[in-house]
This record gives sequence, C-alpha cells and structure tokens, in this order.
Amino acid sequence: SSLSMETIVSLCRKRGFIYGSSEIYNGFNGFYDYGPLGAELKKNIKNEWWVEFVQRSDDVFGLDSSIIGSPLIWKASGHVGGFSDPMVDDKKTKRRYRADQLFYKKVGDAYVTVHEAEKTEECACLVDAPPDVFAQLPPPDDPRRPGDLTEPRDFNLMFETNVGATDASTAYLRPETAQGIFVNYKNVLSSSRLRLPGGIAQIGKAFRNEITPRNFIFRSREFEQMEIEYFIKEDDWEPRHAEWITRCKTWLLKIGLKDELLGYDVHRDNLAHYARACTDITFKFPFGEQELQGIAARGNYDLTQHQSASGKSLEFYDEVAKEKLIPHVIEPSIGVDRLFLALLCSAYEEDGDRVVLKLSPLVAPVKCAVFPLVKKEPVLTLARRLYEDLREEFACDFDVSGAIGRRYRRQDEIGTPFCVTVDFDTLDDNSGFP
Ligand code: ATP
Repeated sequence: SSLSMETIVSLCRKRGFIYGSSEIYNGFNGFYDYGPLGAELKKNIKNEWWVEFVQRSDDVFGLDSSIIGSPLIWKASGHVGGFSDPMVDDKKTKRRYRADQLFYKKVGDAYVTVHEAEKTEECACLVDAPPDVFAQLPPPDDPRRPGDLTEPRDFNLMFETNVGATDASTAYLRPETAQGIFVNYKNVLSSSRLRLPGGIAQIGKAFRNEITPRNFIFRSREFEQMEIEYFIKEDDWEPRHAEWITRCKTWLLKIGLKDELLGYDVHRDNLAHYARACTDITFKFPFGEQELQGIAARGNYDLTQHQSASGKSLEFYDEVAKEKLIPHVIEPSIGVDRLFLALLCSAYEEDGDRVVLKLSPLVAPVKCAVFPLVKKEPVLTLARRLYEDLREEFACDFDVSGAIGRRYRRQDEIGTPFCVTVDFDTLDDNSGFP
C-alpha cells in the first residue's frame, strides 16, 4: 500500500494519539507520550488481551511484578552478560548503528554499506564482515568516505539505575516482563489453581537502551509488553507451540488486524541455544514486514537457571506420574505499542480527502459520539441525556460544534464506530427515554 509513516505520525499528533516525549525541551529520542485518544486505545488493547487470555482462560493467571528487582535475576537469566546488540560507531560523526541491521556488498573494487531495507542477495551482514573488508567499509550515510567505522562490539541494552544510598547498588530496569513471571512461578503455583499445563500472564513496561530507536513507536526505548509463560511438560511442546500460534493469530484478527497484512517468520538459524523453536507473527508495516509478536518454545532454560542461581526449588510435582519436573514453556510475547501501530496502519483508509480509521469497536478510543443537530432546546438536553446514559458504560464523545457532516468526519478520523444524531424526529419517538 502507499500508506506512509509520515501520514500516521501526523494523524497521531494532530488528533492526540501520540506525541514525541519532552517536546517542549526539543524532544528525547526513543520515548513517546500517549495523548487522550492514545491512552484510551492503549488501555483497550491491554484490556482486550487480559480478558481474552486471563479472564476467559481457565488455566492462565495474572501477575503484576515490579519493574526493578534483584540484579541477581538478570545475572541468572543471562541478560547481564548477554542482552546486547552488536554496535558499530562512525568515528567521525559519532553516529551509532546496529551491526546486525547493516549490510555490505562489493561494487567494483570497493565495498559499500547498505541499510537493511535496501539489502539484496549479494549483501552480507556487517557482523560477519572480515577485518580487512571492515577497514575499507564506508559508513552508511556517506558511501564515498571510507574506513571510519569501528568494528562491532557488544552493547548491553539494559538501563542501569541505583537503588538506595550505597554505591554497590546497581540495579536494572527490566528489559522484558517475562523474568518477573519465572521468579514468581513458585508463588503463583502455591497460591492459585495454576497447574500443568497452565500459564502466567503479565502486562507491563519494559525498557531497552536501543542503539537506533526508529520507525516511531515500533522500536522505542520504553515500551509495554504483554507476555505469557505457558508451563508444559517437555514432550508436549510441539502441539502446545502450534496451539499458541493459532490462539495469538486468532486474537489479532479478532481485535481488527487485516489478515492480508499478517504473516509468519519461522526462525531456523537465529534461535537462542536453549530454544526449541520460535515463530514470529509478522505485520506488513509501511517500512516493511516486521516482527509483531514472537511465540517461542523456550525449553526450561529460565526456570533451570533461576533454580540453580537461587538454590530454591522451582519444580512442579506431577501427582499422576508421582515425579518432580522443571516445566518447559511456550512464550507468546507482544509489544503493546507495536500492536497499537499495526492497528492504526491496518485501519487507515482514505476516501477522497476523507480519512477513515476502520478500528474495531473492541479497541476504538471512542465508542459512540452523540450530536445534537441544533444547539437548541429540547434537542440539546435530550442529546446530552443520551450521552450521559451511554458514557456510564462506554467512552463517548459529545460534539455540538460545526456542520453535522464535519462532526461525522472528525469521528471517522479517530475510528469511532457509532455516531448518533439527535434531531427533531428523535423528539417524536423518544419511547426509550422516560
Ligand atoms: P529485535 O530483535 O527486533 O530487537 P526482539 O526479538 O529482541 O526484537 P523480543 O525480545 O522478542 O524482541 O520482544 C518481544 C516483543 O516485544 C516483540 O515482538 C515486540 O512486539 C516488542 N518489542 C521488543 N522490543 C521493542 C522495542 N524496542 N519497542 C517496542 N516494542 C518492542
């Protein structure tokens, strides 16, 4: 499609979905603020997810763990040593790039760097560039200037902070919500009806010091995740993995994503060493087809790591087989903000100079707008009463200003599924209003 990110970004600003963070101080790269409609849409996305996967699931239980926890969690999970992206610096401009998102190819006798989006078959990833080739590579934004890149080095993505007043108090803002689930596995097991198979779900903020935040809220430094750890027996992983891929896709369609914009990416060679399989559900964003949700079969790596690091048993006692085991997991993980962007892109339509957001009523920020046709009694009071009735249950808008056609267009632009105009005929048939 011809939808551009500029169109989405400017609609978001203009109608109060999303602003850049700290704008009055000239902005702060990688962070965003959600305005009145954005806050509403985001809340609806999270609520629908929670209702689907927690409230209506017999076997999944909710959790809301702290953003900052013991640094020992992140040591055991491998994040302290390993949660990094390969980074290269342009020594002249001081710009930084993610080496795994940069590619290079030979043109004549020289090498050039190529951004991920423009890569072709003859391109290889910068991470794999041999040192002698590396020395000749120009930085991506200036193809004629050679040899100014540093070699790739690991850059840890976790934000550090200090807790309390002592010096040796380094802690981390969580880069994912999943570890909060693993470290609470025993707590939930002993205080709820969680059994095997069964899961724990969590929605919450995550923080990553991304080297190159880009594509608006697709990749930011502060975002929200909706994650489930679904605990299973080892030999059950294949059917459960398939089942969760289907459940996730079904829900994405239910809240209004267009089927033709969704796809799958089955990981084969870039799997984590402990993972059995990982399938991404992808979305065709204006800047390309990208991961929207990851559904990983993670083995029992995390619980095993936490059990040995903490010395506390994280086993499940199987009453039937009369044996203890450390469960394996299926992990569906999706970013709220990324899904927010996908929903807007999927819903956006232009009809002449009219913009229509075809959002599902499940997530639309405003469910119903009420318009009194004229600013006169008794039309005005009746419309106001209808609005006050409706807003007891739904997010509603009451708009008295401008021509009625313009009022409809304003609602079309923000995805309001229902509008009600109160006119003189309404007065003749107000049987529903005592
Ligand atoms: P990438 O390799 O693109 O950096 P990832 O594979 O590390 O991403 P995961 O760790 O699998 O991402 O994160 C799970 C989900 O969280 C993603 O599918 C995505 O929806 C969301 N997510 C991850 N990083 C970000 C981010 N920086 N901004 C917004 N959402 C994110």
